[in-house]
Parts: sequence; structure tokens; C-alpha cells
Amino acid sequence: MTPKDTSTSPDLSLKKSSPSHQELHAHLTGSLSDATVLKLLRAKQAEGGAKLPQSAEVTIQRGHKRTLEECFEVFRILHCLTDNLSAIKTITRDVIQEFVADNVHYLELRTTPKSIDGVMTKNQYIDTVLEAMIDEMKMNNITVRLLVSIDRSRGLDDAWDTLQLAKQYAAHDQFKSLICGIDVSGNPRAGNLGDYIPVLQEAKQCGLNLSVHLAEVPNEKETLELLKTGLIDRIGHGTFIHPDTGGSQELSQLVKSQAIPLELCLSSNIKSGTVKSAEDHHFSFWRKDEHPVVICTDDKGVFSTTLSEEYKICAETFHLKKADLRELCLAAVELTFLSQEEKERLRLSVHTELDELTRLES
Ligand SMILES: [Zn+2]
Repeated sequence: MTPKDTSTSPDLSLKKSSPSHQELHAHLTGSLSDATVLKLLRAKQAEGGAKLPQSAEVTIQRGHKRTLEECFEVFRILHCLTDNLSAIKTITRDVIQEFVADNVHYLELRTTPKSIDGVMTKNQYIDTVLEAMIDEMKMNNITVRLLVSIDRSRGLDDAWDTLQLAKQYAAHDQFKSLICGIDVSGNPRAGNLGDYIPVLQEAKQCGLNLSVHLAEVPNEKETLELLKTGLIDRIGHGTFIHPDTGGSQELSQLVKSQAIPLELCLSSNIKSGTVKSAEDHHFSFWRKDEHPVVICTDDKGVFSTTLSEEYKICAETFHLKKADLRELCLAAVELTFLSQEEKERLRLSVHTELDELTRLES
């Protein structure tokens, strides 16, 4: 499979006539642009100590022409490049600036805290991300929040450890307003999500919001078990839930009865091969059922996309009109993990912007 030809540069013509957007599903490391990766790669090569594949620079420079296999190679390269606090600071700042350039005014980033013996602890990792978020919010018109990620491939001990960390920051005087919840992600074929239910129960009891990558690949038993807990606040992908896209009536009814919103990432699903084409994407089925959905990028760097590009693909594929796009934009505000007060402020600012756009067009 060859990923589609998309540009990593924000579409400026869209920016003039489109409202700003909210990005609710963006993994920090997967969001790195080629420019940032090359910057880190060259710094690493200059040090001379990196265990990087010979072909790393070529793979990165292939940009949007990368094959699926090369996309996974990029994840491996990113892992090697983000092994110190200075790199973590650089990537957080660069990613936020790129979302700002793409007209994103509200961003929920997610990341799995990393520790490397003698280099950084998980606390230092999170401190660095949060400090970079604060710096960028001071300099740009953007609100950024963090979801602390549990990686399902790392096992239960690591998940409990990550939850403790999230709880610690959610109670921290300086940082508590920046932590908006827990994300559960990682290789969808690794482990069984059912094992993580006690961790999720405790997270909810502590007031943390939960966004869970669910049904990225067909797994009715696991999906059912998770949905029956009633714990999930938002679903990442949810590709194999709707009966028209390989799920079932039972799964879809559970999602609908709990009104759990879906974070939909078209390019990511198509390029990673879980959805055949944009036309086949589950967006259309959930939209037809008037179920809450939000368009997101997932890993804008790895999959060579931007949020405005994702809205454009959606608009072109499903013949959405300007009014539909604005309705999606307003609906996204309601799906954020902001407090009621913060949500009200964001809602007001989006309304004002939409009124202004309508006035300019008339
Ligand atoms: Zn994701």
C-alpha cells in the first residue's frame, strides 16, 4: 500500500475561509513533522552515538511517498530520537507550533511517559512536556491539554504506574489544570484490554476522563467487555463497532445508548490499512446515525497529514457543505475534556469566529 499524496503544510487557502479547529486525538511522538525529525536526526548523528538504521534519513525524506512499512520504520526512528529531555522539549514545542500554524486553537496531546536509566525519569518527561505546553500557550493563541497514555503492550504494572503518575499531576498545584485524562493506546493486537479494567475504574474514581483506542482491529469480545463497563468517555477510532463496518448491532447499540463520542482519523486508518478508502470510512455511518464524532489526525507526522487536510478529505469524500463543517467544528467543542467553565469560553470564542466568517461572506 502506498500512502496517498498529501502535504504536511497547512492549507492556507482553507485557513482564510474555515473556522479554527479542535484536535482531540494527537500522539506527541507520531505528530512530529519531517523537519523536526531531520533536526533531531542530524543532532543525533553529530553526537555519533545513535543506534539508528543507515536508511533513517532517506526514510524520513521520503515524506508522503512512504510505504506502510516505512511508516512503521519511522515509529522506530522516532523512538531512538526522543531519548532525552532536550529532544522532548523540542518536539513538544514544534508540534504545538505546527498545530497553531494549521489554525488549531484547542489541542489535546497524548503521550506515554518514558524513563531511561540515568537519562530521564517519567516525572521529568512529563514535567518537560507540561513546561513546553505552558511556554507555547504564552506565545500563541492555543489552549493545550495533556492525556497521559497507558500503552496496552507494556503490561499492567506499567499501566498502574502511569495512572499513579497521572493522579499525581492531576493533584499538582501548578499542573493540575493541564491534565485532562488518560488515553489507552498501543498495539491493538497486544495484550487484552479487559485486564486493564481495574486501572480504568480507579482512573474514573479519581475524576480522570478516559479516551480508549477501541476496535481498531476486529475484536468483538474485547470491545464488548470494555463497552459494558460504562467507563469510556471517548473512543479512539472504533473502526469495527458499527454493523456496516465489521462490528455488530450489540456493539453499536452500547456505544449509542451511552452516547460515547468517536475520535475519527481517516488518513491514519487508510494508511495503516484498517479501512480500505475514505469512501469506506465509518465516519459516514455514524454521521448518518447523528452520533457525536470528531475529526482528528492521530499521528500527523507519520501519516503525513494535517487537521485541515483531514477536514478537507472528509468534506470532499462525503460532500459536506460549509454549514456541515461548521457544525462539526462546534460539536467538537462539546467533546473536549475541558471543564464546563472552560468549555463555555471555547464555545463562545468559536461562535464569535463563525459569526465573523458568516458576516465576511455575506
Ligand atoms: Zn491514536
